[in-house]
Amino acid sequence: MKIIKTRRNFIKDTSIVTGLGLVGSQHLSARSLINKPVAKKLGVALVGLGYYATHKIRPGLLETEFCELKGIVTGTKAKEGEWMEKYGVEKKNIYNYQNFDKIAENPDIDIVYIVLPNGMHSEYIIRAARAGKHVICEKPFDINAKRSAKAVDECHKLGKLLQIGYRCQYDPYHQEFMRIGKSKEMGDIKEIRSAHSFYGSKTGNWRYTNKALAGGGPLMDVGVYSIQAARYGSGEEPIAVSATCYNTNPKLMAGMEETIIFSMEFPSGAVASISSSYSARANFVEVSAEKGNYGLRPAFGYGGAQGFIGKDMMDFPVKNQQAVQMDAFARNILDGTPVLASGEEGLQDMKIVDALYKSAKKNGKRIKL
Ligand code: NAD
Repeated sequence: MKIIKTRRNFIKDTSIVTGLGLVGSQHLSARSLINKPVAKKLGVALVGLGYYATHKIRPGLLETEFCELKGIVTGTKAKEGEWMEKYGVEKKNIYNYQNFDKIAENPDIDIVYIVLPNGMHSEYIIRAARAGKHVICEKPFDINAKRSAKAVDECHKLGKLLQIGYRCQYDPYHQEFMRIGKSKEMGDIKEIRSAHSFYGSKTGNWRYTNKALAGGGPLMDVGVYSIQAARYGSGEEPIAVSATCYNTNPKLMAGMEETIIFSMEFPSGAVASISSSYSARANFVEVSAEKGNYGLRPAFGYGGAQGFIGKDMMDFPVKNQQAVQMDAFARNILDGTPVLASGEEGLQDMKIVDALYKSAKKNGKRIKL
């Protein structure tokens, strides 16, 4: 099997991005993203020190060029000492959920990164923006489009940049996947298949047990990656969706799906068929186009993607996705450039999620967007 590097114009820059004309995405000139030296790295405060903040974002911040860990917001006293001692966070940069708004007075903090349960996202985005900070918020944006739209509006009004933590959009393999779709190198896209699932809804984590915080099951947690890939892979926005939900464990996951299977129709006639589950193992996106198949498998994991075009393998440098995502956002702030994984991007996904749940409630009825 040949190893190929298909992206001839690949720029060896940690923050390269391409736009696809998606909602809220815009073309960014590569020139504006060439690593210019910065006098001072932007200070990041993490809000919510759970699994992702501690084990993925904090290590990612050790690899960033344009931003660094400066502050934390936590409701757990014991974590304050631990983060001061282990990670060098200064006491004056530590907040709890009650005094969080005082962060407005802290010049060390430029970016607030929200890593709380989904249902708390918009509230904290709005509080952070009102405190005068730019905001990164983890995916999914929130638990519905209405709340997300309010946060987008508030950030716009206050002139604060907002990025949704869609780390894959900053990964070279995903960018190549976008480029192939956009350039039509493989002809028109006919079908996109994707699944993102993992096995294990057994713990007491809010994801599996608390609908107000989770908003739903695997669609909210991991299915959104497949929605993203279908959108940026096709470069189109869906015009209709249809979904069916299943739950073999309704006691644990009350009112939420354990598995969802859905389709998305695009204006060109391309169709996406997607599944997401807490009781399956899957992690891929594949495209059938006029001239053949290509895709990413694995696609969405932390360990980096692998990609193929027909029988050839893609070969790009493996990037720390969290680091390149945060650095790209820091450069957007420093250079005044648009955010790739913007609030509007995340909001569009929430509109699709709302339509999918509406369809599932109506036994898979086709819902127009
Ligand atoms: P987690 O449960 O490990 O952490 C959540 C944190 O929020 C904890 O520190 C908890 O103490 C705090 N918290 C504050 N108020 C809370 C409340 N009322 N109820 C519950 N917890 C509360 O979760 P996580 O896996 O770190 O996920 C956090 C966010 O990050 C989610 O939105 C998730 O979708 C996202 N995430 C993104 C990725 C990615 O690859 N981009 C990966 C994992 C998680």
